[in-house]
Amino acid sequence: MTARLIDGKAAASALRASVAARVAALPYRPGLAVVLLGDDPASMTYVRNKDKAAAEVGIDASTIRLPAETPQSALLARIKTLNADPAVDGILVQLPLPPHIDATAIIEAVDPAKDVDGFHPVNVGRLASGRPGLVPCTPLGVMRLLAYAKVTVAGARALVLGRSAVVGRPLVALLLAADATVTVAHSRTRELAEECRRAEILVAAMGRPEMIRADWIRPGATIIDVGINRRSDGRLVGDVAFAECAEVAGAITPVPGGVGPMTIACLLENTVEAAERRRGMASRVTA
Ligand code: NDP
Repeated sequence: MTARLIDGKAAASALRASVAARVAALPYRPGLAVVLLGDDPASMTYVRNKDKAAAEVGIDASTIRLPAETPQSALLARIKTLNADPAVDGILVQLPLPPHIDATAIIEAVDPAKDVDGFHPVNVGRLASGRPGLVPCTPLGVMRLLAYAKVTVAGARALVLGRSAVVGRPLVALLLAADATVTVAHSRTRELAEECRRAEILVAAMGRPEMIRADWIRPGATIIDVGINRRSDGRLVGDVAFAECAEVAGAITPVPGGVGPMTIACLLENTVEAAERRRGMASRVTA
């Protein structure tokens, strides 16, 4: 392998340490409320990991577990209570929600000042217009990884593969805010390989196992692989064929151990950010 490995575990650990220092400087422990409906095993594992990571940096995390059949009105009432609770700085409703719940209505019910997932339309609009707000955790993690790896983003040709509301779109806005020249590709993009070959920074967020091959990569490019896909043999792989692309790229993230660990670290960062803003002591002007 010739590319430099961008170690997401080490980057996440450094970010958690900086969050812990910010928490220690606050006059109170920030509170994070995670609302979980039902008992989906993947969601339960994810919520447990969030709780543990929050406790380690001094954030008071509480999980509100509700039955899968909880009516939408009851969930909305619960969110209203959390919005009004002064001890709660961040609210996260674990997705996906059961089919009888309108996820959009739930996202819009969360106070934008406590929306640590960055999904509320107010925060989406702030990000799109280049104003400070809370930013979705995974794309924020990508930006933090680029900074950790000391990759020059300003002026770079960046390609984002994927345009979802959770990853691709907010990442486009963040890269633009960081002065990259940004192209976004999706399932209808023609000549995808050509687009990839132009990119100095390539971020793959498609959910297509090992689709990006070595001959698509510009020599020396930085590759950030957001994709998480499970192969039929149980192996976890990204959207990038790691071994062969690592022979061409300048720097590359592994899967697992790349973007994944950054997502929870950025959730903690957003929680302390929300707490500081509520106290009028925010330090982050933009992401
Ligand atoms: P979505 O399915 O919502 O979006 C996928 C995007 O990729 C769409 O915009 C789609 O285009 C595009 N796409 C799909 N196939 C192709 C193709 N063949 N060529 C070009 N573009 C294509 O996925 P998410 O954004 O939610 O997630 C993307 C990946 O990132 C998944 O593997 C997911 O598991 C992972 N992920 C990882 C996280 C982490 O913490 N590391 C967090 C969140 C997601 P179109 O819009 O035209 O359909």
